[in-house]
Amino acid sequence: MIKGSCLCGTVRYEIEGPFQYASHCHCSQCRKGHGAAFATYGVVASQAVTYTAGSEAITSYHASPTATRTFCRHCGSNLEWRGTATPERVGIALGTLEEDPLVRPRCHIFVGSRAPWYAIADDLPQFTADAAGHSE
Ligand SMILES: [Zn+2]
Ligand SMILES: [Zn+2]
Repeated sequence: MIKGSCLCGTVRYEIEGPFQYASHCHCSQCRKGHGAAFATYGVVASQAVTYTAGSEAITSYHASPTATRTFCRHCGSNLEWRGTATPERVGIALGTLEEDPLVRPRCHIFVGSRAPWYAIADDLPQFTADAAGHSE
């Protein structure tokens, strides 16, 4: 069981079961949504995620016709990335975890949209588009 919560603590969740994979996404939507150089999402089966508190505070933004991003309406913490075509799995914003997810990012995706002020300094594979189930 891996626990996570938003910045203000209103939204709390638990994940049962392993993450399938994780990746760093440099797409412009992730950069804007997170206010950061990139976003790191871990993907799990949708039924593995249980909201234990604050589910009424979760709101969503349809960032594109194919994706919904959820966040806490009080503090703005990013929580999920959900693809319309892949309801069976969900991307969890790994920065909201309180424990080690026991998964490590395997690649960088959408590096063509990378922030010019950030230099990727690891040896993970880099993809210009979606190599891991995340699409804009
Ligand atoms: Zn919050
Ligand atoms: Zn992205």
